[in-house]
Amino acid sequence: MIILALDPGAYIEDLDEWLSKIIDETKDLVVGYKVGLPLLIAGGLEAYRTVREKAPNNLLIADLKFADVGDIMSMSIDHLSKTGVDAVIAHSFIGYKDALDKLSMKCFERNIKLILVISMSHRGSEEYIDRHVNEFIELTDKTGAWGVVAPATRPEIIKNIRERIGDRIKIFSPGIGFQGAEPGTAICHGADYEIIGRAVTTSSNPRERLLEILEVQREVIERCKRS
Ligand code: C5P
Repeated sequence: MIILALDPGAYIEDLDEWLSKIIDETKDLVVGYKVGLPLLIAGGLEAYRTVREKAPNNLLIADLKFADVGDIMSMSIDHLSKTGVDAVIAHSFIGYKDALDKLSMKCFERNIKLILVISMSHRGSEEYIDRHVNEFIELTDKTGAWGVVAPATRPEIIKNIRERIGDRIKIFSPGIGFQGAEPGTAICHGADYEIIGRAVTTSSNPRERLLEILEVQREVIERCKRS
């Protein structure tokens, strides 16, 4: 139930070697990979293609957190579709008209799943974004979104989303490990997948670290099922 965020630090000299090592060690343990701006900036769309090739059977999510006008995001989707990504993440706060309406149509045309950010894992999310969580949840209907992102660091938001949307939408939850949440917490509150990045990717033994995290996740989920 883990999506691994592949965010390379600037200290990484050989990106290909870094990707190969992490993907080889983890692809049988994770549901998928999340690739975002750090990897795109460091390695271009070629790096996204590399992840696709090395992990052909895992879900591949492009976390570009789109927040532009619809036509421009659609142009980006046309380029992105050449990499074989399965899903893309966009912000909800840009609204529907001339933004998410066009993006969702383009995603449908290109067979890319749309995931909307409902809330973020950092504290600043409370300043603006979190005031509109319920309106953002309503956008999932309009856009036909396949999934949403909500933070493990504020599990009450996950619970609220799950209660409102039922089982029809996947909930992806970052904030585990480096940002403080315990593995399993988000799933206990209704998430489908937990997104973990640096806790694994900065480890000298990513596989061992991931196995430890999976074990904690299993225990926490078991405990919450019993309570
Ligand atoms: O390294 P760490 O486990 O903190 O990585 C979490 C990943 O989830 C990062 O790629 C970050 O961009 C992403 N993310 C997040 N909060 C959101 C959406 C995505 O932390 N609301």
